[in-house]
Amino acid sequence: MFALALHGGAGTIARASLTPTLEANYRAALATALAAGTALLAQGAPALDAVEATVRSLEDCPLFNAGRGAVFTHDGHHEMDAALMDGASRRAGAVAGVRQVQNPIRAARLVMEQTEHVLLAYPGADELAREHGLPLQPAEYFFTQQRFDQLQEAIAAGRTQLDHAASPAPAADPNWKKGTVGAVARDVRGHLAAATSTGGMTNKRYSRIGDTPLIGAGTWADERCAISCTGHGEYFIRAVVGYDVACLMEYKGLSLAEACRVVVHDKLAPVGGEGGLIAVDAAGNLALPFNSEGMYRASRNAAGEAQIAIY
Ligand code: ASP
Repeated sequence: MFALALHGGAGTIARASLTPTLEANYRAALATALAAGTALLAQGAPALDAVEATVRSLEDCPLFNAGRGAVFTHDGHHEMDAALMDGASRRAGAVAGVRQVQNPIRAARLVMEQTEHVLLAYPGADELAREHGLPLQPAEYFFTQQRFDQLQEAIAAGRTQLDHAASPAPAADPNWKKGTVGAVARDVRGHLAAATSTGGMTNKRYSRIGDTPLIGAGTWADERCAISCTGHGEYFIRAVVGYDVACLMEYKGLSLAEACRVVVHDKLAPVGGEGGLIAVDAAGNLALPFNSEGMYRASRNAAGEAQIAIY
């Protein structure tokens, strides 16, 4: 028995802007990523391999804000964050602010397996990827016209990441997209893993790091649960979202679904922490809660039932 869930970001997904063709493209990309992870889990592969493969598939798709298609910083660059964690061993690896590595999630795994560290940032992280032969790409590879247009709109409106929380409220702003990607899995041995990858937030100040690569905030896995988050990173960092779900299960005895509900709806939502998460527990139960208008997501539960949804 195994289970897998993935997300392609939560946020204000304006129904009017999602044409039937675009929606079909999103659903196809989510299905492809789900198939990539499921195929590995079905062969008995470790959860860590499955979440990495799932996230790589989403990083390679320009529809999502990770890898190819990552959003722009205020100064017109891409700075990508990624992390993964293996629940059984509690080993973790992460990169922040990488600009060249084609698949940041692979660089995160290198940090975990090839260094004594957990988090590497900026040129040193790209350098590690280069040293180990991971494909690097020029800035044009990560460029998408849509993300560039979003940046121009955000600059024209004078919005930077720091004043999103003020006015206008992110929920009212259709351009404030959060298309981070992530995956969580429970493998046939009962081991759990989580992986998350993002370009961050449009028009973010350069060198800004979000919740994604921070172990315990945007990404977490232990023997009890695996969590991957998407949403307004500053809120997720301060709420230590991934670890809080694990703690509610451990200290309060809450079920996975209840712990996720408390964090996403009772804790994040009231303070404006827009977003959601995907989670799996050791029994293979899945939870995919969000407090935003939508969250691109797909899952395959322990009974083998697949689901793809946006709203
Ligand atoms: N959480 C990400 C960040 O703040 C953004 C996202 O989820 O889209 O960097």
